[in-house]
Amino acid sequence: MNARSTIRLVVSVDTEEEGLWNVGFPVRNNTTTNLRGLARFQALCERHGMPPTYLVTAPVLDDEQAVAEMSKWQQESRCEVGAHCHPWCNPPIVAEQVSSRESYLSNLPRELQYEKLAWLTDAIADRMGVRPTSFRAGRYGFSFVTARCLIQLGYTVDSSHLPLFAYPEDGGPDFRMHARLPHRLVDSSKPGSLIEIPVTTGFTRPGYELRRRIYQQTRQPIPRKLRLAGIADRLGIARRVKLSPEGTQTDDLKQLISAGVRDGLQTLVLMLHSSSLVAGCSPYCASEADFERFLSRLDSCLGFARTEFQAEGVTLTQAAVEIDQMLD
Ligand SMILES: [Zn+2]
Repeated sequence: MNARSTIRLVVSVDTEEEGLWNVGFPVRNNTTTNLRGLARFQALCERHGMPPTYLVTAPVLDDEQAVAEMSKWQQESRCEVGAHCHPWCNPPIVAEQVSSRESYLSNLPRELQYEKLAWLTDAIADRMGVRPTSFRAGRYGFSFVTARCLIQLGYTVDSSHLPLFAYPEDGGPDFRMHARLPHRLVDSSKPGSLIEIPVTTGFTRPGYELRRRIYQQTRQPIPRKLRLAGIADRLGIARRVKLSPEGTQTDDLKQLISAGVRDGLQTLVLMLHSSSLVAGCSPYCASEADFERFLSRLDSCLGFARTEFQAEGVTLTQAAVEIDQMLD
């Protein structure tokens, strides 16, 4: 990949109903009170010149105020609206009860994945007036089958990969060995490809590959090694961090950004859930005090990327267009 002088930062929001955190996978009657926090968040991002990418689920499209706000911002090039699939509450609904395993889109049959994605894509185009081109799977439930469906539906960028993380307990994806740099997911059977821009994860110090090996070694299921994992984390030798102000301290976020840039990462993807944007709607912001601390971490993080690395805010699709050219 050719070098680029400026760091890009994508601020991405899984924009969704608040149901997931407390009552499993509710199929119907989902509420979207948390979306009342969008305007304040949008203003914070704009103060940093960073247009957010809102990846929206099906229930969000029934919230008239949120649809009106996001469509207006998108029309004025102040944000991008992409898609986020929570298969349990995304038509066509084929089951009234959904298991944890079935909550991952990637575990569903190909036809059903396609039908749900096609419904969501058309519904976003209809409500927002623009067809979405960016995507993130709910609970990161993404596979090559999902990628093929997205290419068929005209998407150009996915951000469902979460390197270093895995969810094997309930049949979820395993991204422990996945690349952290953006790359093309090519469908060899048909024309077209999708740019994958993973959510930024890493460590608080540079030397990603070495630290990834240490991290994995110390996580082997041997009690003695579990103690080593704790020591490696406390000493900062291999402290795994996701670029999200949800539950991660400001210093760790800043160190992750610095380490990532030093390791050659040119496009950073920060993620958060819309349910963190109103106190009481997510476990990350249970109280007003938690919420204010969350906003302050987000503010510091965006400010740090901007002042230390002259990071420029772009949406997922804008980032993918640039990456596509650089990969040629
Ligand atoms: Zn989600």
